[in-house]
Amino acid sequence: MSSLDTLMQDLVIANRILAKEDVVDAYGHVSVRHPDDPKRFLIARSLAPDLVGPEDIVELDLGGQPTRDDGRSLYLERFIHAAIFEARPDVMAVVHAHAEDTLPFGIADGTRLRPVIHSGSFIGIEVPVWDIADRFGDTNLLVTNIEQGRDLAKCLGANSVALMRGHGFATAARSLIEVVRLSVYLPRNARALMRAKQLGGDIKYLSQGEIDARNRGYRPYSPETWRTWEYWANKAGCGHLLTRPDDGHAHPHIRRDNAGLQ
Ligand SMILES: [Zn+2]
Repeated sequence: MSSLDTLMQDLVIANRILAKEDVVDAYGHVSVRHPDDPKRFLIARSLAPDLVGPEDIVELDLGGQPTRDDGRSLYLERFIHAAIFEARPDVMAVVHAHAEDTLPFGIADGTRLRPVIHSGSFIGIEVPVWDIADRFGDTNLLVTNIEQGRDLAKCLGANSVALMRGHGFATAARSLIEVVRLSVYLPRNARALMRAKQLGGDIKYLSQGEIDARNRGYRPYSPETWRTWEYWANKAGCGHLLTRPDDGHAHPHIRRDNAGLQ
């Protein structure tokens, strides 16, 4: 199987995991940069992530347009992915979702969303909030063109997560495994923080040193990381699609070093 086929299967797995873990429902999407052409990326056609199969994957350019227009409907908000891939050469995978537990932090400015649990460390110390109204006034809040996508990517900057006011979030990472992991733990971290606020008193966030220590110990294909991916894939009913990089299939899109994203 080619690295492209392997990556498409991984993208299907990512779709199913995000659905099973309640990060996405009928809406929300995940994408991965093309392994052979950094100016393209792969994403499903307009379809609920839980229903995505390999035949539903389409190839788009960094303007958000299909490289081969076969008439299939595309996600309206595909420009989120296009603009982040365009702005961030280090990013290999992107998720956009509306997970409910993250929404209050994009609306209320009293409490910033920051890591409070160890598995939330990959969120990074800074989570910017993007408000589409700042530049585009009254819209339907959806990112429906490349200019809006670029404005969001600018707000994301070098961070891993941007919240989108009254809408959801965008996450960016070096691989599919990382972006899925980040997107699953982001709402959980938000939930823990919200419950802690209800208990009252000061909130103890992860320190920069703790976040750095977590990052230093992280490897995308370590047994610990693989264990999560394997567990989630089987729980989502697609364990049969799993391909370990050790199986002899190349994963050229994965950077093995630990530089780059926090
Ligand atoms: Zn959306």
